[in-house]
Amino acid sequence: MEVTELLNRIVVFAPHPDDDILCCGGTIIEKLKKGFDVSIIYLTDGRNALYNLGVYTNPSPIELKEIRRKEAIKGANLLGVKTENLYFLDVEDTKLNYDPNLINIIRDLLNSIKPQEIYLPSTEDATSDHKNANLIVMSTLKMIKLETKLYLYIIFPKYARLDYSFKLLHRIFDKRYIENNISDHLSQKYFSLLQHKSQIMILNPKQRQPVISALTLQRLLNNTESFICLDER
Ligand SMILES: [Zn+2]
Repeated sequence: MEVTELLNRIVVFAPHPDDDILCCGGTIIEKLKKGFDVSIIYLTDGRNALYNLGVYTNPSPIELKEIRRKEAIKGANLLGVKTENLYFLDVEDTKLNYDPNLINIIRDLLNSIKPQEIYLPSTEDATSDHKNANLIVMSTLKMIKLETKLYLYIIFPKYARLDYSFKLLHRIFDKRYIENNISDHLSQKYFSLLQHKSQIMILNPKQRQPVISALTLQRLLNNTESFICLDER
């Protein structure tokens, strides 16, 4: 019994609340159905998403932080992840940097969860918080002994228009590239993402567009989730 329990743990690193669903919502649903235990570690609180679009009040960054935490819990619960498996490290977004204290917290979490699979952003992602999330998690992994597979994901490629060609090249030439067909779970993934209203809807008239544009949503919500798979140790 204990052996099964030991074999079935996954950790997803989300630089911002909603990245968990965008990168691998369908995969999370599938893994949960197979009996895996899924934990999500949200590195930043995402408070500046609207501030960056010129919205300074209604909601303020501090209000948005609370809104986004609630959205993250609802979204993850709809995927099937238990609230007790959600960890909010509350770094201010756009300020995710190498920080020994943060690394210690992540090290302790990974040491207690001991996951067999870790999902984290690739350095090829164009967003600085995503790239830095990779560096922080990889630095932490160097400090601990974990036998785990790493699944690197890209949510915002440097050249979004070339995303399809980029994936095609990986599919042909990169043996580490895997594509997971999530068509059975796409609608559930979509409903989970709908909980992140602050990101996909206009909350304040000062916004000309939602944080995540309809075009980006269209690109991100499709039948496959792709990863570069690395064996760690
Ligand atoms: Zn993000």
